[in-house]
Amino acid sequence: MNSRIDLNTLTIEETRARFQKGDISARELAAIYEDGIKQKNGELNAYIEIFEDAFEAAEAIDARLEAGDMPRLLEGIPIAVKDNILIRGKKATAASKILANYTASFDATVIGRLRDAGAILMGRTNMDEFAMGSSTEQSVYGAAKNPHDTGRVAGGSSGGSAVAVAAAMAMAALGSETGGSIRQPAGFTGVVGLKPTYSAVSRNGLIAMASSLDQIGPLAKTVRDAELLFDVIKGKDPKDATSAEYEARSSLHEKIVIGVPQEWMRGDGMDADVRTIIERAIETFREAGYEVKEISLPHTPYALSVYYIIVPAEVSANLARYDGVRYGLSKEGANVIEGYFKTRGAGFGPEVRRRAILGTYVLSAGYYDAYYRRASRVRRLIAQDFENAFGEVDCIVAPVSPRPAFKLGEKVKDPLSMYLEDIFLVPANLAGIPALSVPYGVVERDGKKLPVGVQLIGPRFGEGILFDIGKFLEAHS
Ligand code: GLN
Repeated sequence: MNSRIDLNTLTIEETRARFQKGDISARELAAIYEDGIKQKNGELNAYIEIFEDAFEAAEAIDARLEAGDMPRLLEGIPIAVKDNILIRGKKATAASKILANYTASFDATVIGRLRDAGAILMGRTNMDEFAMGSSTEQSVYGAAKNPHDTGRVAGGSSGGSAVAVAAAMAMAALGSETGGSIRQPAGFTGVVGLKPTYSAVSRNGLIAMASSLDQIGPLAKTVRDAELLFDVIKGKDPKDATSAEYEARSSLHEKIVIGVPQEWMRGDGMDADVRTIIERAIETFREAGYEVKEISLPHTPYALSVYYIIVPAEVSANLARYDGVRYGLSKEGANVIEGYFKTRGAGFGPEVRRRAILGTYVLSAGYYDAYYRRASRVRRLIAQDFENAFGEVDCIVAPVSPRPAFKLGEKVKDPLSMYLEDIFLVPANLAGIPALSVPYGVVERDGKKLPVGVQLIGPRFGEGILFDIGKFLEAHS
């Protein structure tokens, strides 16, 4: 173990500087991380697979550095990857039995970009099956554990990626969001997580959940690290027609104006300690001279209902491809239909089945108008609420989750209470706008200190605003 290196504080830029000075090699760094993974993964269950070829990649990077090449943005940086993002030649299971033996035949666009920036891929991380869940308990590989209290969940669905970063088993990680799956585990484990603007990051090579919402994003120890990762992965990709050229949006005001959604703060669903932390963040903004305004997002109280209609609908369509013929698990039946039933019955876990059934229902003849069409209309109203707000303020501050990490087993049998965890998260996904989770303070539960995240929401392509305010919060926490 290299005693000069403290993985809990080591940032990407510091690592580059150390490489340049010849302080440490990429191989040495990868070895330190691998030691940590070997020590901790048994208990925390963050990784599903640790890549054997990480050292080869590190050696190739050392050869470059020795030849005097300038370190690229992520040169030699150990990165963990959620198991729904394809890496050529590696398995990609989405933590589902149905894909247990599926090997990716190409790199997702984001993986290609990480490689081009010099990153070292450390392994595949644990997640809720097909990214459906808020605790990583829906994984076929068993739950990831929260390093701050192993009796508690890490959050989800990108729980493995969050734990990998929080427990120094990777310097940063990629996760994915459909409805909070980066921000919520980031908040529960005390790391930074970004849900990018919809279309800012290519979805090519991401195993689809709900395509109108899915986005890949970074988890990291600091806002700056998350920003660096985002800079590497963002931008238009000809392989994803919904991806866009990134055009950064700047703030309307010289000094950023911060909005507080009154509908969100008014409800009684929020834990008192979490409320205190959010109020302290708001106070900190005020003291630093930021203008803080109350805003109204009148349709967002419907966001959760809208989300849990639109998502199952898209899930039922996207998951129709797992029929035992083209991918993964395949069970024989007396006829084709029976084969489908058997394959899907054996291959999908309970939450995935629940959503496929719900989604088929809300899309079926006679119900489509009552559910899906109406939900789509309210979705537009929610997006409009945010647009109105961003005519007035530059950034919105809110809780990430209504309470700190809950106990393993506490909610997994009660889908509705699990869905309620997403209440402050899904509005940004439905509106397609960026949102950042920044660790800010801790609360004590059962003698353990649990991190709490503050959420910053910005206008489309307003990630830069979020990074600025996020760095301010980080420096004043
Ligand atoms: N909790 C959300 C859900 O289960 C998270 C989904 C996600 O962001 N991948 O739908």
